[in-house]
Amino acid sequence: MGFPLLIFTDLDGTLLDHQTYSFNGAAATLERLRQLSIPLILTSSKTRAEMRKLQEQLGLNEAFISENGGGIFLPPGHALQDAGIFEQLDGDRGKLFGRSYAYIRSIFATVRDAYNIKGFGDMSVEEIMQLTGLAGEDALLAAKREFTEPFVFLSGPRQEKLQEAVSGSGLTITRGGRFYHLMGAGQDKGRAVVETTRLFRVGSRNNILTVGLGDAQNDSAMLRVVDIPVLIPRPDGSYADVEAPGLRRAPFPGSRGWGIIVADILGELAGQKAKPY
Ligand SMILES: [Mg+2]
Repeated sequence: MGFPLLIFTDLDGTLLDHQTYSFNGAAATLERLRQLSIPLILTSSKTRAEMRKLQEQLGLNEAFISENGGGIFLPPGHALQDAGIFEQLDGDRGKLFGRSYAYIRSIFATVRDAYNIKGFGDMSVEEIMQLTGLAGEDALLAAKREFTEPFVFLSGPRQEKLQEAVSGSGLTITRGGRFYHLMGAGQDKGRAVVETTRLFRVGSRNNILTVGLGDAQNDSAMLRVVDIPVLIPRPDGSYADVEAPGLRRAPFPGSRGWGIIVADILGELAGQKAKPY
């Protein structure tokens, strides 16, 4: 088994366009990855239920990382099934890094009024649809949280103060393209990416090169641990305040920028003497 190149990608605002959730702009590059059998590992703040559906739409049957590094999941029959670290979780095999949603919600309830915040657990499906632009069925999948609570500040954002308030409970806050997320302090996309890369490296004779793509603060831990980090601009063309060694900036937002820069990277690597794939 050899997987010489691994690509980890955020979804919202990165592989998926911010407003429409379309990945059309990356279609040609996605097809190229399929031809080359390069694993594409979705690494998102989305839930396992949402990501299963997206994997289907993208034609992927690959490991994926849900809810900002809350868990790594494998579809049935995946080559890493026997890696030993996975437990059976209703239909998927998974390794969990996050705290339970019930615990996150219990802490959320203690700070909700003082910070004037509202989480998915406080919202109707209609409200989630409005805030995310997702259709009803997809909004229901987004509400199936396991490790993180997405929320908004109803008055001014006070991320740092709230961070201090929840740190004693072992929780932390990160920020995605649309929402803040309350989650376990022991999880982030970086930790899950490191663990997934390690699993793919076991049993591979080649040195695996990793690429990571993201657009927001919640991607920074991932971008710091990959070999080739890529920052995708926001819809207005500006870049999130994210730093990583060797960081590349994609030329366009969303799927279009994603498709161009991944194609560039494949082209550069193919041109090198020792082919990485
Ligand atoms: Mg994003």
